[in-house]
Amino acid sequence: MTTASAGIAIPDELTSKTNLIAGDWVDARSGERFEVRSPATGEVLAEVPSCAPADVDAAVAAAKAAWPAFKARHVYERSAIVLRMAELVRERAKTIARVLSAEQGKPYETESLPEVMEVALNFQLAGEDVVRMETPVLAMRDPNKRVLTFREPYGVMAVITPWNFPTVIPSEYIGPGLAAGNTMIMKPASTTPLSMILVARCIEEALEEFDLPEGVFNLVTGRGSVVGDYLVSHPDVDIVGFTGETVTGESICARAGIKQTLMELGGNGPQIVCSDANLEAAAAAAAYGCFFNAGQVCCATERILVEDEVHDRFLELLLAEARKWRLGDPFDPATTMGPLNNEPTAVKTEEHLADAKAKGAEILTGGKRESGRPTDLYFPPTVIDGVRRDMLLNLEETFGPVAPVIRYTSNEEAVEIANESGYGLQMSVFTSSIKKCFWFADRLRTGNVVFNDSTDYWEAHEPFGGGGGTKSGHGRLGGRFTLDDVTHLKTVAIDFEKAL
Ligand code: NAD
Repeated sequence: MTTASAGIAIPDELTSKTNLIAGDWVDARSGERFEVRSPATGEVLAEVPSCAPADVDAAVAAAKAAWPAFKARHVYERSAIVLRMAELVRERAKTIARVLSAEQGKPYETESLPEVMEVALNFQLAGEDVVRMETPVLAMRDPNKRVLTFREPYGVMAVITPWNFPTVIPSEYIGPGLAAGNTMIMKPASTTPLSMILVARCIEEALEEFDLPEGVFNLVTGRGSVVGDYLVSHPDVDIVGFTGETVTGESICARAGIKQTLMELGGNGPQIVCSDANLEAAAAAAAYGCFFNAGQVCCATERILVEDEVHDRFLELLLAEARKWRLGDPFDPATTMGPLNNEPTAVKTEEHLADAKAKGAEILTGGKRESGRPTDLYFPPTVIDGVRRDMLLNLEETFGPVAPVIRYTSNEEAVEIANESGYGLQMSVFTSSIKKCFWFADRLRTGNVVFNDSTDYWEAHEPFGGGGGTKSGHGRLGGRFTLDDVTHLKTVAIDFEKAL
């Protein structure tokens, strides 16, 4: 540990040579770097390599060269490697989580540490699930034939991830991707690469213990428009796992051509509160969905649709819940919500609120950045009532700590509002009626729907991703479902009659 910064000691591994290419920790060939700052204090935490296409070429070449030997390793060995990665992450969880809080802004105790433990869980699940994958054996018309199917890795996998969950989102691709036998180049988000570099140290150490070819796992840092853009269209990349904004995902798909893609994109999840709901539980869940990670979650509660007759009582309860959240320093144990991660997110939140105010909505608490804080990124929990369907808060993903309340008068209208923004990642409905659960489940256009809990509810082995035909993407992250998406089915037909 060397420099004390933002309330934490920066591990030596983050002070230089933080990219991993072909088994070596290196700088960018150009020597260029960029700063990573703490959103909580504004201090520079570290500088990381600013890579260019030549660095990406080297990483892709290393992953390509390593693939045949890695793929040939027995599945139980690949399982053991990712299980070892899980152990190493658990051992170093506190150090990784401290760096995560410092660079991302989320509270250490309640969010960063659980996030890092979930990285280990994702590696563990991948190690456990990969040895249990099953594929069909088919009965054929030709009596001399047997047809078997196998799951094969695609080859070289590019993984590009956002800043809201800097370690757990990469782990959702890395665990299954490596367990299934792909080699990899990972590019973390530019504002939050440091915690992932520490996870990469664990991955590399596990790979070394198993004496694997150099280049199975590579990490490059740099601008999305340079490194990410070049990576996804690289001819030697076979599969792209991307989590980020819908607009970035669309441009990646346009450039990735016929490569396999997993696209985990934006959300605009509503929580629907029916008049027969447990309103206390609905209000607590809504506050959690809006303010957890300062609302910077793909499945955050972006809108709260409340049935007219319970609107006033629900609003009262929601305001009481919002006032329980404590904005502050991520390392203060009393803090339940940290600063926003970056300026564009703060600006977008302000723009959406200004649009709603101009069109007649009323901010009841919060609504603007707090002054007197170490940075300009402290945005308090905000509740806004009188939100209508023509407002940006309803139509677009805000990604800030905002609880927009929209009234509705019939179940049909609630479904229409929920579906109209075109996003369909995760939605939630509070009702006491089992009949309504299935009625809504059939009509909401979304990949995931939760009844009587927050839109943020999700467990690591559930299939998670955008609903068909929505702007939230395709492919599934979560447990064994990702193993299916990072492998392709190979069919092998055997004529045993003609064998000697
Ligand atoms: P973003 O699209 O701006 O960036 C994501 C990653 O893509 C970053 O690493 C970035 O550097 C890289 N990138 C940027 N331009 C690129 C390009 N032209 N080519 C290749 N890569 C490029 O997203 P963000 O602001 O970091 O993340 C927030 C978004 O992510 C939100 O929309 C959120 O809903 C979404 N998200 C989705 C899920 C999910 O599971 N569906 C989970 C978390 C976040």
